[in-house]
Amino acid sequence: MKMSKMFVQTMREFPSDAEVISHKMLARAGYIKKLTSGVYTFLPLMWRVLKKVENIIRDEMDKAGAQELLMPFVQPKELWEESGRWNAYGGELMRLKDRHGREMCLGPTHEEIITSVARDVLKSYKQLPVNLYQIQSKFRDERRPRFGLLRGREFIMKDAYSFSTSQQELEKEYQNMWQAYTNIFNRCGLPTKAVQSDSGAIGGSVSHEFMVITDTEAGENDVFYCDDCDYAANSNHAVSNLPEAIVDGGYNEAQIIDTPNTGSIEDLAKFLNCPQTVICKALVYIVDKAPVIALIRGDKAVEETKLMNAVGGVDIRIATSAEIEDIMKENGFSAVAGFIGPKGLKKYGEYEIKIIADKTVTELKNFVIGINQTDKHFVGANWGVDVELPSQIEDIRLVEAGDFCPQCGKPLKVTRGIEVGNIFQLGTKYSQPMNAVYLDANGKTQPYIMGCYGIGVTRTAAAAVEAHHDEWGIKWPISIAPYHVVVVPVSTQDAEQMNVANEIYEKLLSSGVEVVLDDRNERPGVKFKDADLIGFPFRITIGKTIADGKVEFVERSNGEKTEMTPQDAIDKVIDAVNAVK
Ligand code: ATP
Ligand code: MG
Repeated sequence: MKMSKMFVQTMREFPSDAEVISHKMLARAGYIKKLTSGVYTFLPLMWRVLKKVENIIRDEMDKAGAQELLMPFVQPKELWEESGRWNAYGGELMRLKDRHGREMCLGPTHEEIITSVARDVLKSYKQLPVNLYQIQSKFRDERRPRFGLLRGREFIMKDAYSFSTSQQELEKEYQNMWQAYTNIFNRCGLPTKAVQSDSGAIGGSVSHEFMVITDTEAGENDVFYCDDCDYAANSNHAVSNLPEAIVDGGYNEAQIIDTPNTGSIEDLAKFLNCPQTVICKALVYIVDKAPVIALIRGDKAVEETKLMNAVGGVDIRIATSAEIEDIMKENGFSAVAGFIGPKGLKKYGEYEIKIIADKTVTELKNFVIGINQTDKHFVGANWGVDVELPSQIEDIRLVEAGDFCPQCGKPLKVTRGIEVGNIFQLGTKYSQPMNAVYLDANGKTQPYIMGCYGIGVTRTAAAAVEAHHDEWGIKWPISIAPYHVVVVPVSTQDAEQMNVANEIYEKLLSSGVEVVLDDRNERPGVKFKDADLIGFPFRITIGKTIADGKVEFVERSNGEKTEMTPQDAIDKVIDAVNAVK
């Protein structure tokens, strides 16, 4: 490819709406162009990267025994009603109607479709196990599309689905995919950490996410891990043991006392001169549309996904002060946040108020709790005497760094991660309701035991930029770089330089190397800047030293510059390219 013909426009500045480095760089280096919120055109450079990521995925999935197919992007409501997800899936599901008024959705994922395909074909145990995958655009109307390709609305995903006859067979396939994923991300130059995770809208019990560890804002997930054993979990799923704490408030008398201006736990603890650990905190959430009161020890925070799962909802948010006011009024109280307690809270509109207690509150004694009166608290409370212990007790606590590992008891650490892929054991979550069955060896119908396995293709490419860049631009791993090398004659007016440049270019081309010749009549500084920004793994510069038979060979990954003969430079590139084939 000649640079003068390449469909690319680099920009001097980062786009103003870009928050994270991959978005900034990919936009500025001419890889992507935004069409509308969360929707991008993949320009030629980007498309080359994405095809490489896809082909690595294809290669490893095929090697692992999976078979590729392609399902429709538009899906009928009826299948989603069979699985029960038409109503259960949140606002991310883009629903639409055709001209006949039939309801459909744009595929955010394909469990329903693949299950309906499988049940028509896989009728006997003799045909199982099977793993089917596709690589395709998905649409999710994300609440906050941001970070460019890391969280788009339209994005490319590899999704695979396995069908087995037993849990044991599923677990074997799960391990098989785990290994394939490890290979895929390693080949993309992206080491990942597999962490336990919540199963979210996809469902099922056991699941792991493959995280690219990063210390930047682009890592939307907090990952808790232990250096002493293999424990690693997304914060939405992490559990921990806590150090001992004072849980007895030591009050001799149970009574209501005035606690003016103590809307926060800090203020309340200061006012009462007690540790935060003897306060029972009550927080008001709205899960889907229903009110939920979460009780947790004063010094701890609620993990919202855990709470949402405990209630069985798909959407969660903290209640507004207006909603709290309404809830209070309807139950005969008047209190603002900070003074809420579970006692006497029954109904809100058509909903019963659910109360969920975190495990940490069960051991509290003579503790402090709100009673739905502003500027008052109950001190010296005990469960069963002054307040009923809620019947639903769950772990809804957010783990913190320094808590103890649930496996080995050593202190946990925290870091951030970008989820590039995940694997789920679905079991019969879809096969059961959709009546997707096969005949077992005894002629009995059985639902398939399913698994599903996703990789964000576009997110993986963006994560590679997060992991590999410097202030000047991208440093693509060779395996997924749009081109392997750029050949830069310092002066296009210099006949000898151009001759050598053309010769190197032709030789590389005929060796199967993906090479760009920067034949633009630009200052060398401009060409070098663009080369660094675009992120070619290698640059061969032909300048004055060609008089001594030497070119400059530059490695983008470490900035190393070496003078060598044109043939040595060619050989170096060929070797590096062969090493990742
Ligand atoms: P997240 O928690 O980041 O929203 P998810 O749990 O919804 O991800 P899945 O439904 O399991 O993700 O999708 C499989 C893969 O698709 C993810 O591991 C991720 O790499 C990718 N992915 C999911 N949502 C997006 C998105 N909005 N933009 C780009 N890639 C995405
Ligand atoms: Mg999501």
